[in-house]
Amino acid sequence: MNIKRLVRKDVASLKAYNATEIPCRIKLDANESPYGFAAALKAVSTVRTNRYPDPEAKGLKDLLAKDLGVRPDNILQGNGSDELIYCLIATFGGPVLFPVPTFSMYGVIAQALGEKRSAVRLNADFDLDSEKMLAAIKKDKPKLVFLSSPNNPTGNCYSAEKILAVIEASKGIVVVDEAYQPFSSEKGFLPLLKDYKNLVILRTLSKTGLAALRLGFMIADPEIVEEVNKVRLPFNVNALSQVVAAAALKEKRQLAGFIKVIIAERDRLLSAMDKITGVRPFPSEANFILFKVKDPDRVYRLLLKKGMLVRNLNGVLKGCLRVTAGTPPENTAFLAALSEIQKG
Ligand code: PMP
Repeated sequence: MNIKRLVRKDVASLKAYNATEIPCRIKLDANESPYGFAAALKAVSTVRTNRYPDPEAKGLKDLLAKDLGVRPDNILQGNGSDELIYCLIATFGGPVLFPVPTFSMYGVIAQALGEKRSAVRLNADFDLDSEKMLAAIKKDKPKLVFLSSPNNPTGNCYSAEKILAVIEASKGIVVVDEAYQPFSSEKGFLPLLKDYKNLVILRTLSKTGLAALRLGFMIADPEIVEEVNKVRLPFNVNALSQVVAAAALKEKRQLAGFIKVIIAERDRLLSAMDKITGVRPFPSEANFILFKVKDPDRVYRLLLKKGMLVRNLNGVLKGCLRVTAGTPPENTAFLAALSEIQKG
């Protein structure tokens, strides 16, 4: 029996995300935090394994609402922000507009759900090309616009005025994906939620030490939350993740300390990489750095040979690799390896 023949056309032409795990000594490829919250794991002993988790993740949402200065009914919980991207597209449908290069899942999920996609290239500074974005909004009338700011994989924030122009011009929902906001010097779009009903903010705990838990959040007007909640599967955030995240979120001082180190290390990486011959790092407001080299495939391969895994973006962004800020010793080892490779 030919199974392929039964698969929806949009799905048949997709490739599974990052299916293989590459063994390495120093893992700098996935924008994770090098620091975890081991002590928070003790909280799992309170979980009753025979019971479903709280479908509303109430305890966690209350904590988060307090931290973010919003009400719990402004928040929807997801199994990672990936899942919320899925829920948003399932709720509002397409066309789905996004600038490129950006986080691949906006396009992948839109395609998986059979929705139209509209991709507009960023300008030479990796900022929004306002003219083209506004023209696409006028022409395609997107139900959803996804703006990752800071943007993955370029690392920069889009200029706030340009984001505002998109929000104001759009008759649909504009999602500002702030996965990397904790590392940014910009204040983000949360304060503007009350002014723009069509604005949705995405946040995640994945970049600040809790990637294993798969927890993301959408912050929006309660009416939007209510609609998207209709397509959310009932027990999407498991009980273990709920209690561990709640325990970790209470460790505010530790979390702030980790973020401070990561930002300092990102800046150290940036200035040191800038001094290595043939390496061009791009400024970053995130926990990773995009950089250009002459022979990215060779550099990627040689780094891996030395046990260091980075992300090869050569297909999406010519000549580019992306490195995540690790611990200070990991970053020092990476810098030494990169300079040695560039000398050879
Ligand atoms: N948005 C952006 C911009 C990302 O880079 C990522 C992670 N790569 C995500 C969302 C998804 O994060 P998660 O599903 O782990 O919350």
